[in-house]
Amino acid sequence: MNARRVPDGDRSPSVSKPVTDAATSARMSRQKRANTNPELALRRELHRAGLRYFVDRAPIKGLRRRADVVFPRLHIAVYVDGCFWHRCPEHATDPKNNAQWWAEKLAGNVARDRATDAALIEAGWQVVRVWEHEDPRVAAEHIRALVRERAPRQEQGPTG
Ligand SMILES: [Zn+2]
Repeated sequence: MNARRVPDGDRSPSVSKPVTDAATSARMSRQKRANTNPELALRRELHRAGLRYFVDRAPIKGLRRRADVVFPRLHIAVYVDGCFWHRCPEHATDPKNNAQWWAEKLAGNVARDRATDAALIEAGWQVVRVWEHEDPRVAAEHIRALVRERAPRQEQGPTG
């Protein structure tokens, strides 16, 4: 557990966004654009693998964070996480301007992610986190294996 205080997730939207320097703005807009593409790429691969799923829905009631891809019957929730916003170990960066604000904001995101994971796992779900930098084909293959593992054997049909 991180001892540092992080902003309350429910209250953070009311915190006004500080002025950002040009480099940070550029990175953020790049990140924002990139955030949708890995998601689409993953969904395309999953579809190609013959999987059927729901998109952008809350896996369990009362959980405010929607998952990007959900297999409700199999209880699998997939999140595609942006490297900047969710602090990927390889690409996380710390903006120099308003460093304190950003540190708290990003730590808050990560804390919320872990809380989401914990809530889902407790409810019997399998959580899959895919970084935006990951190869969507590799991620899709991993998810397909999980689906196979969790799927009832009924597709083989009754014998005879
Ligand atoms: Zn990354």
